[in-house]
Amino acid sequence: MGKKCLALRIASKIAKDEGWLAEHMLILGIESPEGEKTYVGAAFPSACGKTNLAMLVPPEIFNKNGWKVSTVGDDIAWVKTGSDGQLYAINPEYGFFGVAPGTSAKTNPNAMASCASNSIFTNVALTPDGDVWWEGMTDTPPEKLIDWQGNEWTPGCGRNAAHPNSRFTSPAGQCPSIDPDWENPKGVPISAFIFGGRRNNVIPLVYQSFNWSFGVYLAATMGSETTAAAVGATGNVRRDPFAMLPFCGYHMADYFAHWLQVGRTTPKPPRIFSVNWFRKDANGKFLWPGYGENMRILKWIVERVKGDAAAVESPLGWMPRYEDLDWTGLEGSVTREQFYDLMSVDRDLWKDEIISHEELFVKMYDRLPKEFMHIRELILSGLWRSPEHWEQFDPTADADGFND
Ligand code: GDP
Ligand code: MN
Repeated sequence: MGKKCLALRIASKIAKDEGWLAEHMLILGIESPEGEKTYVGAAFPSACGKTNLAMLVPPEIFNKNGWKVSTVGDDIAWVKTGSDGQLYAINPEYGFFGVAPGTSAKTNPNAMASCASNSIFTNVALTPDGDVWWEGMTDTPPEKLIDWQGNEWTPGCGRNAAHPNSRFTSPAGQCPSIDPDWENPKGVPISAFIFGGRRNNVIPLVYQSFNWSFGVYLAATMGSETTAAAVGATGNVRRDPFAMLPFCGYHMADYFAHWLQVGRTTPKPPRIFSVNWFRKDANGKFLWPGYGENMRILKWIVERVKGDAAAVESPLGWMPRYEDLDWTGLEGSVTREQFYDLMSVDRDLWKDEIISHEELFVKMYDRLPKEFMHIRELILSGLWRSPEHWEQFDPTADADGFND
């Protein structure tokens, strides 16, 4: 109740009335080797990687070169304009409420350290010595357990030991990557908002929206695949605007208008980006390694914000070329071709995508911001101006798109 109902549903309504934002967002800090810190907020629907991104462990070579990632929050952000015209975010929560299965020292060491003590576990399995266990915690399960329903459990008995939605509740202060300013009442300055969902196809790995309004449109139309069903199928996408559909305390179209208004009244609004870690190849295999490797995308985002990274104009927004990302330590694993597969924009798939935006919009037609119709038209004309299957750009063209 305190988490989703107060911190999001009720807070989002208060935020609208008072001119701020209550969002379903993680907040993280990225520190460059020069010691410069950039904070970003990211909204993904449930089970699309917020906790993992908030606690990201950078690749070894990035650590060695002095890049650091710190956690401010993994689920909720309250965002207000500061006297300097920037947006500042706080995490209103005191702890993490994480899904246990799949969490291990390998997949998320920061989450494991967070729940090593002073934690409450629900619907996990119990070991004979009174410890907890869940699927994915260790490669080999213990020989005997009490399962989440209180029955005896042995490996291979055909049941899950822990419920798939079993959880840990842990003090955020115990997270090794917790940011020194995580409880600062002033919040941390936000330089970028990132939006994303789980999409097999259609949505590129990363792009930067042309401006605030385009960014609000991309966030309003974001969706996620409900299951890992047929590869390439586009029918089973659930729209979850801003990952807030279950949590917005008032009319969703008024919420979009509020976001547009915040952009108009904030002198230095954050840049807006779209990411998709979940694009798959024809065999249903993830094209992108994800997890710690997402650091490479964060680095490009940080550099874009500072005006230090190049990009090219795509039908959707500004995109990095292969050479605009830092591949150190991953050379060869993601080839140039694979990268362009991850980044491609297919006109026919996008035609279906835009029709599916319409299905969302007609539900809120009478209150929908009129900007959205124009943005849709601009995206369409961008798609028709570009090749049918846009795989990047003319490689001989100059990279452009610096912010200033
Ligand atoms: P949250 O509910 O938004 O906090 O999402 P979690 O961080 O708990 O992750 C949900 C699921 O997505 C887990 O099964 C993760 O292993 C998976 N996941 C998270 N990040 C990535 C990624 O970068 N790539 C892939 N392929 N899976 C990811
Ligand atoms: Mn989470």
